[in-house]
Amino acid sequence: MCWKEKRLINSIYYILYYEKMKSDIIRFVNKNKKIFVKINSFLDRSNFLKNREEFINIVLKDLKKQKENNIAGFLNKKSLHDQLKREIFDNKQSLFFNYKVYHKIKIEKIKILIREIIEDIDYLLDSRKISIYIFPTLSNFVIKKMNGVSGFLVWKNTIHIYLYPLKGWGKNFKSAFLHELAHCIQPYYSYKMNLFEHLIAEGLAEHFQKYYLKKNKSLD
Ligand SMILES: [Zn+2]
Repeated sequence: MCWKEKRLINSIYYILYYEKMKSDIIRFVNKNKKIFVKINSFLDRSNFLKNREEFINIVLKDLKKQKENNIAGFLNKKSLHDQLKREIFDNKQSLFFNYKVYHKIKIEKIKILIREIIEDIDYLLDSRKISIYIFPTLSNFVIKKMNGVSGFLVWKNTIHIYLYPLKGWGKNFKSAFLHELAHCIQPYYSYKMNLFEHLIAEGLAEHFQKYYLKKNKSLD
């Protein structure tokens, strides 16, 4: 195969793959309020993880297509780029990684998990639009020390989840999502808080997450 053919095949593959970025909105509407959760999943981009810059560029292109006034909760590409690099590819990138682990995760499953959580705590939430961005991660720290899931509230109602699907990943995903939802409803929560305020906010979010996980035993 000559380089031209190879490039053509690569770009066809790229276009096919490009169409597959998963995005969906779940609506929870009752007479008093409306809660929208916009899910943006980049798990089906995991084939590109072999090359970190390529993966990040694909994510940035996907996000540009969405025409939001921020980029996954960040004001500029550079800050998001740094965050993705840090959270997806830490220094000790997992050597045992096999991107096929992501193929078995369907966005439908993620939608069910999110729906269950919101329905459980919707009496605590007021009307709001929540955006959740789900990324694969190769971070050794996240895989070994955080049960394969880490989460951040990166901006108001904008949550990032970094996921490596270890056994029982659904429960860990819910746990991280609940924790970040707790920060969503803490009116004082911001990255400008001092260390003491952070400790209080983290403690309350942890308590909230544990309380609701324990209440609902059918989470597995
Ligand atoms: Zn937290």
